[in-house]
Formats: sequence, structure tokens, C-alpha cells
Amino acid sequence: MSDTNKAPEIGPRDIVFSCPVCQKNMVVDEVAEGLTVECPGCGGAVIVPAKANTSVETSAPAPASTDSKLSALISKLKELQTQRTEISTNIVARLNDINRQMVLLARLENTHQQVMQEWNRVLADLRPGTGAAGNSQANFKG
Ligand SMILES: [Zn+2]
Repeated sequence: MSDTNKAPEIGPRDIVFSCPVCQKNMVVDEVAEGLTVECPGCGGAVIVPAKANTSVETSAPAPASTDSKLSALISKLKELQTQRTEISTNIVARLNDINRQMVLLARLENTHQQVMQEWNRVLADLRPGTGAAGNSQANFKG
């Protein structure tokens, strides 16, 4: 009994479409185009749409079924996902680079402050008037 539920074979003359109500896939011969058929899924009346592409049928051995359309969409989605991941990776790499530059800049600022402190210390040694320097100057004069 379950054998009757097998997916129908799709020939070059078949129209593949899905029920607008229950989305069940249906296959009918192209002579049924424009006719109203009863959906085996929900029992509703469904108008058979026009065939999608009739010109490629003779050269293509396997006509486009819903499965192949789905797998095409899936591979497109995967491709989009791959590109998205690539761009995200690039952004993260750039952000890491910026962070590294910021750390280097902070380190430079730190070194700059140390140099300025050293600079002030040297300047203070050159000028008289501060504690030890003043005493040595007084000793020198006396
Ligand atoms: Zn239906």
C-alpha cells in the first residue's frame, strides 16, 4: 500500500507544481495545463499552471524537478553563507589589526611620558635651586 506513495516520475511532458493551499507537489501531463485538478493532499481544486520552460526540454536529459531546484537553492545559500563568513572574517581581522595599532599607540604614549619625565629630570639637574643642587653650589662657593 505504501508503494503508491512513491514520488512520481517526471517526464519531459509533465508540469510540476505545488498546491497553493497545502504545498503538496503535483505532477500532471502538459495537456492538463489550465485545467482544474483535485489536490491529492487537501482535496482542493487547483488550476494547473503553464509549463515553466519548454525549450530546454529536448537537450536536457533530466528535467528540472523540485528536488534539483531545491538543491540549487541550497548550494546558493551555502555560497552566500561562505561569502558572508569570508567578509566577517575580514572584518574581524581588520578589527584585530586596529586593536593592535591602538595597543602600539598606547605603548608609544607611555614611552613618550617616560621620556618627558626623564627630560624634566635632566632639566632640573641643569638648573640650580633644587635641594641637593643648591647645597653643592653653596659648598662650591664657600
Ligand atoms: Zn492541497
